[in-house]
Parts: sequence; structure tokens; C-alpha cells
Amino acid sequence: MIQYIVILLDDTSVPFCHYPNKKQERRLMPLDTLKAGILYAMKENLNVQFVYPSYHLPVGYEEVIESIDHVKIKPLVVSDGADVVVLDGMEEAELLVRKGMKYATSYVLRIDKDSLFAQSDTILSILDKVARLNVVLTDLDRFSNDDFVSYREWLQMLSKAVVNLYVEGKSPQLNLLTDRMMLDGMNNCGAGDTCVTLAPDGNFYVCPAFYLSEDGNPVGSLHNGLDVRNPQLYRLDHAPICRHCDAYQCKRCIWLNRKLTLEVNTPSHEQCVVAHLERNESRNLMLTLRRCGEFLPNKKEIKEISYLDPYDMRNEWNNQ
Ligand code: SF4
Repeated sequence: MIQYIVILLDDTSVPFCHYPNKKQERRLMPLDTLKAGILYAMKENLNVQFVYPSYHLPVGYEEVIESIDHVKIKPLVVSDGADVVVLDGMEEAELLVRKGMKYATSYVLRIDKDSLFAQSDTILSILDKVARLNVVLTDLDRFSNDDFVSYREWLQMLSKAVVNLYVEGKSPQLNLLTDRMMLDGMNNCGAGDTCVTLAPDGNFYVCPAFYLSEDGNPVGSLHNGLDVRNPQLYRLDHAPICRHCDAYQCKRCIWLNRKLTLEVNTPSHEQCVVAHLERNESRNLMLTLRRCGEFLPNKKEIKEISYLDPYDMRNEWNNQ
């Protein structure tokens, strides 16, 4: 059942997940479409997330936006009042460190693997000072076996720094390491299942990435209603691999699935291995923190496992 709606205010709205936004020509959502989208969200009782472009909206827009409870996702250059600030690459992360951060705000850092491996200090500076940091890899589809090794080492190094922050009495939130420790079940993106996107053209899409893809078809419109074909394909219980998995923090990105395997409910090897490296380092982090003192006493220990891609265990699924 749909519970969330992402409203892209412009074609150039900041990308906040794995997908890029190459559009440079502004196409602001007409005010009437915005009002109709808000009315739709009210009628369907949806949680709303507005995604902003990197310019200030014309007069009248903010007043309409404030007519409903919402979350504002904004790029760094217009980040006043944002609930979530998107840092598009390491340059913006460094700019943020120089400008200073707002503790109550969550940040998303979109970053490629090479910059990530090279720039841990900046990431640690941000993590130490913000309410939450979500790191999103923008080239997950290009991970090689060597990159998996580097990523494991990077997570181990970051995990040590997270332990130090906890020992100092802080509670850092980093999606890659701390989310899995808190979760008892899947907490994925939910595109097409629990979440849908309204684009400036007045149509619904599975997520912003589908709107921005050349072949991303709409799944209904404000005029004709939401119409997700084969909705079961977006659900966990119809995902042949993911439903056997306990990397609960994984985004289970439908857009990456379709890009890499041509099926929305079948993940790529890269997505699974990266998510399992995070899962396994979260396990180590949890064990280390428990050696330092009481830590999440109501949460179960994360099991030790021998694989990094659940697909490799497919012969055992039938015996479960
Ligand atoms: S790690 Fe792979 S199998 Fe597990 S939820 Fe993520 S995409 Fe699905």
C-alpha cells in the first residue's frame, strides 16, 4: 500500500539516491499541479517529501507547500529550512565542512567509490556533527572484486571511528553501519510498493529515477489516478532473492535492478555484495560496542554468515 509520495518540484530537482539527474533545463511543476498533488496526498493520507531544485522557488510556491506536513529535501546551495540536505559529491561535502553543519539536519552524500575510499576524513568530520548521514554510492554498478575488498577495508576503518564516537557518548547515525543494528526486518526504499513519485508533468512514476530515465514510463497521473501495473513485482514477497535475505538496511533499488538485470525484482550481484559487506561490518560494530558496555539490549545479535550474495545460497532455500 502506498504510504509516501515524493514530489519533484522541477525537472532539475536534486537527485538524492543512486540515480543521476542530467537534466539542466528547468521545468517547474505548475502551481495547479502542485496543489492537485497535495490534495491527492491529503486524500490518500500520504507522507510527503518535496524535492527542491538549486534555485529559489517563485512567490506563492512555499505558501502552498506549507499547507501540508512534509519533509524538504534540498541541495546544499539552497539548504535553508531543509530537513534533508543533499551533498552531490565530495566538493560539496568539503564545502559543508568549511561552512559548518546544522546538527538537527540529516545529510545525504552522493559519492562515487574512488572519492569515498580517498576521503574518509571529510566523511568523519560530517558524521561527528550531524543528526544523520546517509552515504549513497553513485557507481555501485561498477564495483569490481578489488573494489569489494577496498569497500570492506573502508567500512572497517569507519567502524573503528564510529566506536570512538559512541565511547565519547555520541550516537552517530550512518546508514551503512548503524541502520542494520537497529532493524528487525527489511527497511528498503519501497519504490512502487509503499512509495510513489509525482513529477512536474503531473504523472506518477515508480521513483524519480524512472521519471528521469529515457524509458521510464509513468504509472498513472493525477488526472487518471495511480495505476501501477503488476504491483506485486515491487513487493518483497515476490522478490525471489531478497525475500531470503537479512541485509535489512539494503535499499533494494528497483531502478538499479532494472538497469542491471532488466527485472525490477531481481538484484545485481554488486548491490547484494555491497549490502552484505555493510551488514557484516554492522555485525562486528554491534559486537564491539557490546564489549564496551550495554548496547541495544533488546536487539538480537546479527548472525554470522558465510556468503556475500544470497543468490549463491539458492540451493538451500528449498530446505528452509
Ligand atoms: S542484499 Fe541483495 S538480496 Fe538482500 S535485500 Fe539487498 S538486493 Fe535484495
